[in-house]
Amino acid sequence: MITKIAVIGAGTMGHGIAQVAGMSGYTVSLYDIKQEFVDRGLDSIRKNLAKGVEKGKVAPEVMDTSLNRIKGTTDLAAAAHQAQLVIEAIPEKLELKAELFGKLEELCEEDCIFGSNTSSLSIAKIAAATKRPDRVIGTHFFNPVHIMKLLEIVVAESTSAATLAAVKEVGEKLGKDCIVVKDFPGFATSRLGVCLGLEAIRMVEQGVASPEDIDKAMTLGYAHPMGPLRLTDLVGLDVRLNIADYLHEELNSEVFKAPKLMRQMVEDGKLGKKSGQGFYSWE
Ligand code: NAD
Repeated sequence: MITKIAVIGAGTMGHGIAQVAGMSGYTVSLYDIKQEFVDRGLDSIRKNLAKGVEKGKVAPEVMDTSLNRIKGTTDLAAAAHQAQLVIEAIPEKLELKAELFGKLEELCEEDCIFGSNTSSLSIAKIAAATKRPDRVIGTHFFNPVHIMKLLEIVVAESTSAATLAAVKEVGEKLGKDCIVVKDFPGFATSRLGVCLGLEAIRMVEQGVASPEDIDKAMTLGYAHPMGPLRLTDLVGLDVRLNIADYLHEELNSEVFKAPKLMRQMVEDGKLGKKSGQGFYSWE
């Protein structure tokens, strides 16, 4: 039975996953490479919960018990200790994720499940970096994790039925609606979402309309809850650029060729909400 979850990476997604896990009764370790990143993640969790209390959506005692269940650390061995499930939310680079799971292989119990929050990368390749490919699975959450209902579970050929069942149970306990998707670049979500985002950036490049009006076209004209450029700002331009580069290569499709404007904005540090500037100003 899963009672402790180790979340690796305390950024946009990691802190959100740790928050919902803590709120759902799991003991949680939240690991990052520097104490300041761990503190920033814990601080974001505290702020999210406080906002929930303010709005009457979270009971004050739930805030306290949830926070008590989540411990931050920069010690990977301590994070892995007695965890039955690890979920990594580190940058979208295959070599980084493979290296991390390689290290965790030595630190985790033999039956611990390894989940990856990758948006697009091959679960089979990540699994191949471990000695437990049957216990490696995609656990793709959405941003902001405490609000978005979807959990996209990605199964490689090597993933066992028992691993899928255990992760589905966790997803349901976290209050998520789970879909199960085959391990194929971009899965069901990113392949469609990133494609729309890239095309919207190309339209800004071509001067078709302002970012505000392109977003309005999709929210008012197509009833999308959020426009593709605002969503790109929320996800992070750097995160989406990594996904685009990977899908461009893997799917051999020009649809996923990253626009120059996107690359330039990332180079200039305009990463979206997390940096204060993207297609919108977030100051
Ligand atoms: P982020 O940049 O906000 O956070 C990544 C965190 O990982 C940082 O705090 C960083 O310090 C830490 N980190 C870097 N290298 C590490 C290592 N070797 N070990 C441990 N920690 C390390 O990124 P994010 O937006 O949270 O994305 C994380 C993953 O989730 C990516 O695979 C991304 O594709 C995926 N994802 C992102 C979103 C989104 O909306 N941002 C949505 C779904 C999935």
